[in-house]
Amino acid sequence: MSTPTADTRARRDRLRALLVAQDLDALLVTDLLNIRYLTGFTGSNAALLVAADPAGDLFCTDGRYETQSAAEVPDLPLVLDRASDLALAGKAQGRTGFEAAHVSVLALERLEAAATGARLSGTADLVEGLRAVKDQGEIELLRQACAVADRAFAELIAAGGIGAGRTEREVGLDLDQRMRLLGAREPSFETIVAAGPNSAIPHHRPTGAVLATGDLVKFDFGAEVGGYHSDMTRTVVLGPPADWQREIYDLVAAAQQAGCDALVPGITGGEVDAVSRDVITAAGYGERFAHGLGHGIGLEIHEAPGLGRGAAAIIDADMCVTVEPGVYLPGRGGVRIEDSGVVRNGAPGSRYEVLTLTSKELLEL
Ligand code: ZN
Ligand code: ZN
Repeated sequence: MSTPTADTRARRDRLRALLVAQDLDALLVTDLLNIRYLTGFTGSNAALLVAADPAGDLFCTDGRYETQSAAEVPDLPLVLDRASDLALAGKAQGRTGFEAAHVSVLALERLEAAATGARLSGTADLVEGLRAVKDQGEIELLRQACAVADRAFAELIAAGGIGAGRTEREVGLDLDQRMRLLGAREPSFETIVAAGPNSAIPHHRPTGAVLATGDLVKFDFGAEVGGYHSDMTRTVVLGPPADWQREIYDLVAAAQQAGCDALVPGITGGEVDAVSRDVITAAGYGERFAHGLGHGIGLEIHEAPGLGRGAAAIIDADMCVTVEPGVYLPGRGGVRIEDSGVVRNGAPGSRYEVLTLTSKELLEL
C-alpha cells in the first residue's frame, strides 16, 4: 500500500541496493531534501544513516524537532543531537559514503574526526539519481501542485486580473495570492510576469511596467504542494495579435508539441531538445531560442534529468520533466509555452502525460 511511511521505506531500500553495488556499508545523508525524500522529515536540522543492513539505519535531529520527527519519521531509531551529522558519523561502521556535493571542506574535516569507527568515502548523486524517477505518491503531489497553478491562472483570468493598466508586479502578486489560497505552501519560484518587450527576456523579474494593449504577456509560475514544485508557462496577448505575434506563437506551440511527442522512455535529454529545437531552427528562429528545452521537477524546481543541447541523461518512465521552448525577439516580445508532465510507458502519442492542463491556444484578453 502506498502510504508516506511505506514510500520512504521503499526509497531507502532502493538506495540500499545502490550501496551494496558500490561496496558501501552505509551512506551518511546530510542534504535536507535528500533526507526529506528518504524519511519524510521537513525540519531544518537532520542527518540520516542508511546502512546496507536495514537494522543499521539511524535518524538524527535536535530537541526542537523531537515531536515533529516522531510524527514524520515514526519508523526509524531517533538520535537527538544538535550536531546531527557528527553524531551519526560517530555511529557509522565500515566503509561509509558521504554526499560530496553537500559537504564543505571544513565539514568533511569534522566528519573525519568524528567517524572513529568508519572509513569515509565521497559519493555523488546516489539519492539524486533515485529522485529523478518518481513514485506514485510523488506524482500525485505534482499533479496537485499543477492543478493549483491551473486553477489560480483560470481564476486570475476570470476575475479580469490580466489587463491593460495593471503592473507586472500587481498581476504577479495577484497570481501568487490565488495559488496560496488554493493550497500552495508558496510559489515554486519567483513568479515571472513579463509584458510587452519584457516578454523577450527569458527570466524577467516583475517590475512596475504597466501592461498595455497589444502586448504579449508571459507568465512562468508554479505552486509548491507537499514539497513538490509545478512549473508552467503561458503567453497571452492583450487584444488581437499582430501577425508577428501569431507567427512566433504558432511556431513555439508546434515546437512544444513536438517535444512532448518525442518524450519516450529510452531517449536522451539531448535528443528531445533537438527534436523541438529543430522546429524552431527550420523556421529561421534558432538563435532566438537560447536556453534548454526543459528539466526535471520534484522536491526542487530544477533537478535531474536535464533536457538540453547534448544532455546525455536517459529519460525513463515515471520521470517528471518540463517541456518549454521559446522564441524571444529583443525589444519586441517573446513567447514561451511550458508544461510539466510525467513520462509514461504508454501507447504512441500518450507517452508524456501533461499535468498542467491550462489551454495552449493563444488567449486574447
Ligand atoms: Zn517555468
Ligand atoms: Zn521550467
